[in-house]
Amino acid sequence: MRGFRRRSSVEEVVALIGRRVEPLEAESVPLSQAAGRVLAAEILAAAPVPPFDRAAMDGYAVRGEETFGADLYNPAVFQIVGRSRPGLAFQGVVGPGQAAEIATGAPLPDGADAVVKVEATEAEGSSVRVVEPTPPGRNVGRIGEDIAAGTVVLPAGRILRPQDLGVLSALGYPAVPATRRPVVAVIVTGDELLPAGSPSRGHRIADMNSVMLAALIARDGGIARVVGPLPDDRETLRAAIVEAAATADAVLISGGSSTGPEDHAPGLVAELGELVAHGVALRPASPAGLGFLGRVPAVLLPGNPVSCLCAYDFFAGPVVRLLGHRPAAWPYRSVERPMAHKLASAIGRVDYARVRIGPDGVEPLAISGASILSSTTRADGFVVVPADLEGYAAGASVVVWLYDG
Ligand code: AMP
Ligand code: MG
Repeated sequence: MRGFRRRSSVEEVVALIGRRVEPLEAESVPLSQAAGRVLAAEILAAAPVPPFDRAAMDGYAVRGEETFGADLYNPAVFQIVGRSRPGLAFQGVVGPGQAAEIATGAPLPDGADAVVKVEATEAEGSSVRVVEPTPPGRNVGRIGEDIAAGTVVLPAGRILRPQDLGVLSALGYPAVPATRRPVVAVIVTGDELLPAGSPSRGHRIADMNSVMLAALIARDGGIARVVGPLPDDRETLRAAIVEAAATADAVLISGGSSTGPEDHAPGLVAELGELVAHGVALRPASPAGLGFLGRVPAVLLPGNPVSCLCAYDFFAGPVVRLLGHRPAAWPYRSVERPMAHKLASAIGRVDYARVRIGPDGVEPLAISGASILSSTTRADGFVVVPADLEGYAAGASVVVWLYDG
Protein backbone atom coordinates (compact mmCIF):
# COMPACT_ATOMS: atom_id res chain seq x y z
CA MET A 1 0.00 0.00 0.00
CA ARG A 2 1.28 3.39 -0.95
CA GLY A 3 -1.43 5.44 0.79
CA PHE A 4 -2.50 8.92 -0.18
CA ARG A 5 0.04 11.71 -0.16
CA ARG A 6 -2.66 14.33 0.05
CA ARG A 7 -6.40 14.10 0.48
CA SER A 8 -8.79 16.52 -1.18
CA SER A 9 -11.47 18.06 0.97
CA VAL A 10 -15.09 17.10 0.34
CA GLU A 11 -15.80 20.73 -0.61
CA GLU A 12 -13.04 20.75 -3.26
CA VAL A 13 -14.41 17.65 -4.94
CA VAL A 14 -18.00 18.87 -4.73
CA ALA A 15 -16.93 22.23 -6.21
CA LEU A 16 -15.10 20.50 -9.07
CA ILE A 17 -18.25 18.56 -9.86
CA GLY A 18 -20.36 21.71 -9.78
CA ARG A 19 -17.95 23.51 -12.11
CA ARG A 20 -17.47 20.75 -14.64
CA VAL A 21 -20.67 18.75 -14.90
CA GLU A 22 -23.35 20.23 -17.14
CA PRO A 23 -26.86 19.13 -18.07
CA LEU A 24 -27.20 16.84 -21.08
CA GLU A 25 -29.05 17.94 -24.21
CA ALA A 26 -32.84 17.92 -24.51
CA GLU A 27 -34.98 15.32 -26.20
CA SER A 28 -38.64 15.40 -27.11
CA VAL A 29 -40.75 13.34 -24.70
CA PRO A 30 -44.45 12.58 -25.27
CA LEU A 31 -46.66 13.90 -22.47
CA SER A 32 -47.68 10.37 -21.55
CA GLN A 33 -44.08 9.67 -20.53
CA ALA A 34 -43.09 13.08 -19.22
CA ALA A 35 -44.09 12.84 -15.53
CA GLY A 36 -41.00 13.22 -13.35
CA ARG A 37 -38.87 14.32 -16.29
CA VAL A 38 -36.97 17.59 -16.20
CA LEU A 39 -38.24 20.34 -18.46
CA ALA A 40 -35.32 21.56 -20.60
CA ALA A 41 -36.81 24.89 -21.68
CA GLU A 42 -39.23 27.43 -20.30
CA ILE A 43 -42.82 26.96 -21.49
CA LEU A 44 -44.73 30.04 -22.67
CA ALA A 45 -48.46 30.05 -23.32
CA ALA A 46 -48.88 30.78 -27.04
CA ALA A 47 -52.67 30.91 -26.71
CA PRO A 48 -55.08 31.62 -23.86
CA VAL A 49 -56.63 28.86 -21.74
CA PRO A 50 -59.58 28.55 -21.99
CA PRO A 51 -59.57 29.74 -25.60
CA PHE A 52 -63.11 31.20 -25.41
CA ASP A 53 -65.61 32.54 -22.85
CA ARG A 54 -67.49 29.60 -21.37
CA ALA A 55 -70.25 28.77 -18.93
CA ALA A 56 -69.16 27.95 -15.38
CA MET A 57 -72.60 26.54 -14.51
CA ASP A 58 -75.48 24.76 -16.15
CA GLY A 59 -78.28 27.25 -16.88
CA TYR A 60 -79.27 29.90 -19.39
CA ALA A 61 -77.09 32.38 -21.23
CA VAL A 62 -78.70 35.81 -21.26
CA ARG A 63 -77.95 39.53 -21.32
CA GLY A 64 -77.38 39.95 -17.60
CA GLU A 65 -78.85 43.43 -17.23
CA GLU A 66 -82.23 42.05 -18.32
CA THR A 67 -82.40 40.04 -15.10
CA PHE A 68 -82.07 43.05 -12.79
CA GLY A 69 -84.97 43.23 -10.38
CA ALA A 70 -86.11 39.67 -11.07
CA ASP A 71 -87.39 37.61 -8.15
CA LEU A 72 -89.89 34.85 -7.44
CA TYR A 73 -92.85 37.24 -7.59
CA ASN A 74 -91.61 39.21 -10.55
CA PRO A 75 -89.63 36.81 -12.79
CA ALA A 76 -87.92 37.98 -15.96
CA VAL A 77 -89.17 35.93 -18.88
CA PHE A 78 -86.93 34.93 -21.81
CA GLN A 79 -87.59 33.16 -25.05
CA ILE A 80 -85.34 30.09 -25.48
CA VAL A 81 -83.67 30.39 -28.87
CA GLY A 82 -81.15 27.57 -28.78
CA ARG A 83 -78.71 25.45 -26.89
CA SER A 84 -74.94 25.60 -26.33
CA ARG A 85 -73.17 22.41 -25.34
CA PRO A 86 -69.46 21.73 -24.69
CA GLY A 87 -67.90 21.39 -28.11
CA LEU A 88 -71.17 22.35 -29.84
CA ALA A 89 -71.69 26.09 -29.74
CA PHE A 90 -75.01 27.82 -30.36
CA GLN A 91 -74.50 29.39 -33.76
CA GLY A 92 -76.94 32.28 -33.38
CA VAL A 93 -76.95 35.45 -31.34
CA VAL A 94 -78.80 35.83 -28.05
CA GLY A 95 -80.84 38.98 -28.55
CA PRO A 96 -82.87 41.10 -26.14
CA GLY A 97 -85.45 39.01 -24.31
CA GLN A 98 -83.78 35.79 -25.44
CA ALA A 99 -81.89 33.00 -23.66
CA ALA A 100 -79.87 29.97 -24.75
CA GLU A 101 -79.78 26.81 -22.70
CA ILE A 102 -76.15 26.24 -21.76
CA ALA A 103 -74.08 23.53 -20.04
CA THR A 104 -70.92 23.95 -17.95
CA GLY A 105 -67.91 24.37 -20.22
CA ALA A 106 -69.98 25.28 -23.28
CA PRO A 107 -69.08 28.42 -25.26
CA LEU A 108 -70.99 31.53 -24.26
CA PRO A 109 -73.10 32.53 -27.30
CA ASP A 110 -72.64 35.91 -28.95
CA GLY A 111 -74.92 38.51 -27.43
CA ALA A 112 -75.04 36.85 -23.99
CA ASP A 113 -72.84 38.01 -21.13
CA ALA A 114 -74.08 36.03 -18.12
CA VAL A 115 -75.27 32.56 -17.21
CA VAL A 116 -78.28 32.25 -14.93
CA LYS A 117 -77.81 29.09 -12.94
CA VAL A 118 -80.46 26.48 -13.60
CA GLU A 119 -81.63 26.54 -9.97
CA ALA A 120 -82.73 30.17 -10.44
CA THR A 121 -84.90 29.37 -13.45
CA GLU A 122 -88.09 27.64 -14.36
CA ALA A 123 -88.49 26.54 -17.98
CA GLU A 124 -91.89 26.15 -19.52
CA GLY A 125 -92.15 25.19 -23.15
CA SER A 126 -90.06 27.56 -25.20
CA SER A 127 -89.65 30.16 -22.48
CA VAL A 128 -87.78 30.34 -19.20
CA ARG A 129 -88.53 32.38 -16.10
CA VAL A 130 -85.54 33.81 -14.23
CA VAL A 131 -86.11 34.48 -10.55
CA GLU A 132 -82.70 35.88 -9.51
CA PRO A 133 -80.73 38.87 -10.80
CA THR A 134 -77.61 37.67 -12.63
CA PRO A 135 -75.33 40.57 -13.55
CA PRO A 136 -73.11 40.55 -16.67
CA GLY A 137 -70.07 38.29 -16.18
CA ARG A 138 -71.75 36.10 -13.55
CA ASN A 139 -71.04 32.34 -13.98
CA VAL A 140 -68.88 33.01 -17.02
CA GLY A 141 -65.31 31.70 -17.27
CA ARG A 142 -63.45 34.31 -19.27
CA ILE A 143 -61.08 33.58 -22.13
CA GLY A 144 -57.57 33.29 -20.62
CA GLU A 145 -58.80 33.12 -17.00
CA ASP A 146 -56.76 29.93 -16.47
CA ILE A 147 -53.66 31.01 -18.43
CA ALA A 148 -53.25 34.31 -20.22
CA ALA A 149 -51.44 34.15 -23.56
CA GLY A 150 -47.76 35.06 -23.28
CA THR A 151 -47.25 34.06 -19.64
CA VAL A 152 -44.41 31.77 -18.52
CA VAL A 153 -46.25 28.67 -17.39
CA LEU A 154 -43.35 26.42 -16.35
CA PRO A 155 -39.67 27.27 -15.87
CA ALA A 156 -36.76 25.33 -17.34
CA GLY A 157 -35.54 22.76 -14.82
CA ARG A 158 -39.02 21.99 -13.58
CA ILE A 159 -39.51 18.36 -12.54
CA LEU A 160 -42.83 17.75 -14.20
CA ARG A 161 -45.79 17.03 -11.95
CA PRO A 162 -48.82 15.08 -13.17
CA GLN A 163 -50.88 18.28 -13.23
CA ASP A 164 -48.20 20.03 -15.31
CA LEU A 165 -48.91 17.51 -18.05
CA GLY A 166 -52.56 18.54 -18.08
CA VAL A 167 -51.59 22.18 -18.42
CA LEU A 168 -49.13 21.37 -21.21
CA SER A 169 -51.83 19.46 -23.01
CA ALA A 170 -54.19 22.44 -22.76
CA LEU A 171 -51.45 24.58 -24.30
CA GLY A 172 -51.26 22.25 -27.27
CA TYR A 173 -48.04 20.40 -26.53
CA PRO A 174 -48.17 16.73 -27.57
CA ALA A 175 -44.58 16.40 -26.32
CA VAL A 176 -42.14 18.52 -24.33
CA PRO A 177 -38.40 19.14 -24.44
CA ALA A 178 -36.91 17.24 -21.49
CA THR A 179 -33.29 16.84 -20.51
CA ARG A 180 -32.08 13.43 -21.59
CA ARG A 181 -31.78 10.96 -18.72
CA PRO A 182 -28.11 10.20 -18.13
CA VAL A 183 -26.97 6.68 -18.91
CA VAL A 184 -24.64 5.72 -16.07
CA ALA A 185 -22.27 2.81 -16.46
CA VAL A 186 -21.58 1.04 -13.16
CA ILE A 187 -18.41 -0.98 -13.45
CA VAL A 188 -18.06 -3.40 -10.54
CA THR A 189 -14.63 -4.87 -9.90
CA GLY A 190 -13.30 -7.42 -7.46
CA ASP A 191 -11.86 -10.93 -7.92
CA GLU A 192 -13.88 -12.03 -4.90
CA LEU A 193 -17.25 -10.94 -6.27
CA LEU A 194 -20.07 -13.14 -7.49
CA PRO A 195 -23.07 -11.73 -9.36
CA ALA A 196 -25.50 -9.80 -7.15
CA GLY A 197 -27.79 -12.08 -5.18
CA SER A 198 -25.60 -15.20 -5.51
CA PRO A 199 -25.09 -17.45 -2.47
CA SER A 200 -21.51 -17.06 -1.24
CA ARG A 201 -19.16 -19.76 -2.47
CA GLY A 202 -15.86 -20.48 -0.74
CA HIS A 203 -14.32 -17.10 -0.05
CA ARG A 204 -16.29 -15.35 -2.72
CA ILE A 205 -19.14 -13.02 -1.84
CA ALA A 206 -22.10 -11.54 -3.70
CA ASP A 207 -21.70 -8.09 -5.20
CA MET A 208 -23.76 -5.75 -3.02
CA ASN A 209 -22.92 -2.46 -4.68
CA SER A 210 -24.38 -2.76 -8.17
CA VAL A 211 -27.97 -3.23 -7.01
CA MET A 212 -27.64 -0.40 -4.50
CA LEU A 213 -26.04 1.93 -7.04
CA ALA A 214 -28.56 1.09 -9.77
CA ALA A 215 -31.40 2.00 -7.42
CA LEU A 216 -29.72 5.25 -6.38
CA ILE A 217 -29.12 6.15 -10.02
CA ALA A 218 -32.77 5.46 -10.90
CA ARG A 219 -33.89 7.57 -7.96
CA ASP A 220 -31.75 10.41 -9.29
CA GLY A 221 -33.25 10.21 -12.77
CA GLY A 222 -30.48 8.19 -14.44
CA ILE A 223 -30.46 4.90 -16.30
CA ALA A 224 -27.97 2.46 -14.79
CA ARG A 225 -26.05 -0.02 -16.90
CA VAL A 226 -24.18 -2.50 -14.75
CA VAL A 227 -20.94 -4.01 -16.07
CA GLY A 228 -19.41 -6.90 -14.13
CA PRO A 229 -18.47 -7.98 -11.61
CA LEU A 230 -15.10 -7.94 -13.37
CA PRO A 231 -11.89 -9.48 -12.07
CA ASP A 232 -9.17 -7.15 -10.80
CA ASP A 233 -7.36 -7.33 -14.10
CA ARG A 234 -5.94 -4.14 -15.52
CA GLU A 235 -6.62 -4.89 -19.19
CA THR A 236 -10.15 -6.13 -18.54
CA LEU A 237 -10.91 -3.00 -16.55
CA ARG A 238 -9.29 -0.77 -19.16
CA ALA A 239 -11.49 -2.23 -21.90
CA ALA A 240 -14.59 -1.79 -19.74
CA ILE A 241 -13.74 1.86 -18.98
CA VAL A 242 -13.04 2.66 -22.65
CA GLU A 243 -16.32 1.07 -23.70
CA ALA A 244 -18.28 2.83 -20.92
CA ALA A 245 -16.77 6.24 -21.69
CA ALA A 246 -17.80 5.87 -25.32
CA THR A 247 -21.39 4.80 -24.63
CA ALA A 248 -22.44 6.30 -21.29
CA ASP A 249 -22.82 9.81 -19.90
CA ALA A 250 -21.05 8.99 -16.62
CA VAL A 251 -18.93 6.11 -15.37
CA LEU A 252 -18.96 4.86 -11.79
CA ILE A 253 -16.31 2.33 -10.84
CA SER A 254 -16.94 0.32 -7.68
CA GLY A 255 -13.92 -1.22 -5.97
CA GLY A 256 -10.23 -1.04 -6.69
CA SER A 257 -10.22 2.70 -6.06
CA SER A 258 -7.44 2.91 -3.48
CA THR A 259 -3.65 2.72 -3.75
CA GLY A 260 -3.01 -1.02 -3.46
CA PRO A 261 -1.57 -3.30 -6.14
CA GLU A 262 -5.06 -4.50 -7.21
CA ASP A 263 -6.41 -0.95 -7.38
CA HIS A 264 -6.23 -0.28 -11.12
CA ALA A 265 -9.07 2.21 -11.46
CA PRO A 266 -7.28 5.46 -10.51
CA GLY A 267 -4.28 4.79 -12.76
CA LEU A 268 -6.53 3.84 -15.67
CA VAL A 269 -8.67 6.96 -15.34
CA ALA A 270 -5.50 9.07 -15.25
CA GLU A 271 -4.17 7.26 -18.30
CA LEU A 272 -7.37 7.38 -20.33
CA GLY A 273 -8.41 10.87 -19.27
CA GLU A 274 -7.64 12.95 -16.21
CA LEU A 275 -7.84 12.10 -12.54
CA VAL A 276 -8.72 15.39 -10.83
CA ALA A 277 -9.07 14.11 -7.27
CA HIS A 278 -8.00 10.89 -5.58
CA GLY A 279 -8.27 10.42 -1.85
CA VAL A 280 -10.80 12.52 0.05
CA ALA A 281 -10.84 13.59 3.68
CA LEU A 282 -14.08 11.73 4.25
CA ARG A 283 -14.85 8.77 6.46
CA PRO A 284 -15.80 6.11 5.43
CA ALA A 285 -15.01 6.94 1.80
CA SER A 286 -11.46 8.23 1.75
CA PRO A 287 -10.39 6.06 -1.24
CA ALA A 288 -12.85 7.89 -3.51
CA GLY A 289 -11.85 9.77 -6.62
CA LEU A 290 -13.07 11.90 -9.48
CA GLY A 291 -11.90 12.07 -13.06
CA PHE A 292 -13.01 12.86 -16.57
CA LEU A 293 -12.79 10.67 -19.64
CA GLY A 294 -13.12 13.37 -22.25
CA ARG A 295 -16.36 15.06 -21.15
CA VAL A 296 -17.61 11.99 -19.31
CA PRO A 297 -17.29 12.22 -15.53
CA ALA A 298 -15.85 9.16 -13.81
CA VAL A 299 -16.34 8.61 -10.10
CA LEU A 300 -14.20 6.12 -8.20
CA LEU A 301 -16.20 4.49 -5.43
CA PRO A 302 -14.54 2.40 -2.72
CA GLY A 303 -15.76 -1.20 -2.73
CA ASN A 304 -16.74 -1.36 0.91
CA PRO A 305 -20.49 -1.01 0.69
CA VAL A 306 -20.92 1.76 3.27
CA SER A 307 -18.02 3.68 1.69
CA CYS A 308 -19.62 3.12 -1.68
CA LEU A 309 -22.95 4.53 -0.48
CA CYS A 310 -21.19 7.46 1.20
CA ALA A 311 -19.17 8.26 -1.94
CA TYR A 312 -22.32 8.03 -4.03
CA ASP A 313 -24.12 10.43 -1.69
CA PHE A 314 -21.30 12.97 -1.77
CA PHE A 315 -19.96 12.70 -5.33
CA ALA A 316 -21.67 10.32 -7.76
CA GLY A 317 -25.21 11.44 -6.86
CA PRO A 318 -24.50 15.10 -7.68
CA VAL A 319 -22.89 14.01 -10.97
CA VAL A 320 -25.95 12.00 -11.99
CA ARG A 321 -28.38 14.70 -10.90
CA LEU A 322 -26.48 17.56 -12.56
CA LEU A 323 -26.24 15.65 -15.87
CA GLY A 324 -30.00 15.23 -15.70
CA HIS A 325 -30.52 18.96 -14.89
CA ARG A 326 -31.75 18.17 -11.38
CA PRO A 327 -30.64 19.97 -8.22
CA ALA A 328 -27.23 18.77 -7.03
CA ALA A 329 -28.46 18.94 -3.44
CA TRP A 330 -29.38 15.76 -1.58
CA PRO A 331 -32.85 14.45 -2.32
CA TYR A 332 -33.09 13.47 1.37
CA ARG A 333 -35.44 15.18 3.76
CA SER A 334 -33.73 16.51 6.89
CA VAL A 335 -34.84 17.01 10.47
CA GLU A 336 -33.12 18.74 13.37
CA ARG A 337 -32.89 16.85 16.66
CA PRO A 338 -30.68 16.84 19.78
CA MET A 339 -27.96 14.21 20.15
CA ALA A 340 -28.95 11.53 22.69
CA HIS A 341 -25.25 10.76 23.31
CA LYS A 342 -21.94 12.23 22.31
CA LEU A 343 -20.88 11.69 18.69
CA ALA A 344 -17.07 11.71 18.48
CA SER A 345 -15.23 12.49 15.26
CA ALA A 346 -11.69 13.40 14.26
CA ILE A 347 -10.75 16.89 13.15
CA GLY A 348 -9.57 17.15 9.56
CA ARG A 349 -12.12 14.97 7.83
CA VAL A 350 -15.82 14.87 7.27
CA ASP A 351 -17.62 12.00 8.96
CA TYR A 352 -20.72 10.29 7.60
CA ALA A 353 -22.29 8.87 10.77
CA ARG A 354 -25.24 6.52 10.58
CA VAL A 355 -27.80 7.33 13.25
CA ARG A 356 -31.15 6.30 14.59
CA ILE A 357 -33.72 8.69 16.00
CA GLY A 358 -34.81 7.39 19.40
CA PRO A 359 -37.03 8.76 22.16
CA ASP A 360 -34.11 10.75 23.64
CA GLY A 361 -32.83 12.08 20.35
CA VAL A 362 -30.20 11.08 17.85
CA GLU A 363 -28.35 7.86 18.62
CA PRO A 364 -25.07 7.27 16.77
CA LEU A 365 -25.00 3.75 15.30
CA ALA A 366 -21.68 3.65 13.54
CA ILE A 367 -19.05 6.00 12.31
CA SER A 368 -16.47 3.43 11.31
CA GLY A 369 -17.24 -0.06 9.98
CA ALA A 370 -17.22 0.69 6.28
CA SER A 371 -18.04 -2.91 5.50
CA ILE A 372 -21.13 -3.10 7.71
CA LEU A 373 -23.86 -2.17 5.23
CA SER A 374 -26.58 -3.24 7.65
CA SER A 375 -25.60 -0.18 9.74
CA THR A 376 -27.32 1.82 7.01
CA THR A 377 -30.39 -0.39 6.95
CA ARG A 378 -30.79 -0.12 10.74
CA ALA A 379 -30.24 3.63 10.57
CA ASP A 380 -32.94 6.22 10.02
CA GLY A 381 -30.41 8.42 8.34
CA PHE A 382 -27.01 10.02 8.68
CA VAL A 383 -25.37 13.00 10.31
CA VAL A 384 -22.50 14.78 8.59
CA VAL A 385 -19.83 15.97 10.99
CA PRO A 386 -17.86 18.79 9.33
CA ALA A 387 -14.08 18.51 9.12
CA ASP A 388 -13.51 21.30 11.65
CA LEU A 389 -15.56 19.71 14.44
CA GLU A 390 -14.52 17.08 16.97
CA GLY A 391 -18.06 15.77 16.91
CA TYR A 392 -21.20 16.73 18.75
CA ALA A 393 -21.82 16.75 22.49
CA ALA A 394 -24.90 15.09 23.98
CA GLY A 395 -27.79 17.52 23.66
CA ALA A 396 -26.29 19.38 20.70
CA SER A 397 -28.79 19.95 17.93
CA VAL A 398 -27.85 18.19 14.68
CA VAL A 399 -29.29 17.80 11.21
CA VAL A 400 -30.26 14.22 10.35
CA TRP A 401 -30.61 13.37 6.66
CA LEU A 402 -33.30 10.72 6.41
CA TYR A 403 -32.88 7.76 4.07
CA ASP A 404 -36.65 7.42 3.68
CA GLY A 405 -38.66 10.02 1.84
P1 AMP B 1 -11.86 -2.57 -2.64
O1 AMP B 1 -12.41 -1.18 -2.65
O2 AMP B 1 -11.96 -3.22 -3.99
O3 AMP B 1 -10.50 -2.59 -2.07
O4 AMP B 1 -12.78 -3.43 -1.69
C1 AMP B 1 -12.86 -3.14 -0.32
C2 AMP B 1 -13.72 -4.15 0.37
O5 AMP B 1 -15.04 -4.07 -0.12
C3 AMP B 1 -13.31 -5.59 0.17
O6 AMP B 1 -13.52 -6.27 1.37
C4 AMP B 1 -14.24 -6.10 -0.87
O7 AMP B 1 -14.49 -7.46 -0.79
C5 AMP B 1 -15.46 -5.32 -0.59
N1 AMP B 1 -16.22 -5.09 -1.82
C6 AMP B 1 -15.71 -4.57 -2.95
N2 AMP B 1 -16.65 -4.48 -3.89
C7 AMP B 1 -17.78 -4.97 -3.34
C8 AMP B 1 -19.09 -5.15 -3.82
N3 AMP B 1 -19.44 -4.81 -5.07
N4 AMP B 1 -19.99 -5.70 -2.99
C9 AMP B 1 -19.64 -6.06 -1.74
N5 AMP B 1 -18.43 -5.90 -1.22
C10 AMP B 1 -17.50 -5.37 -2.01
MG1 MG C 1 -11.40 -4.97 -4.69
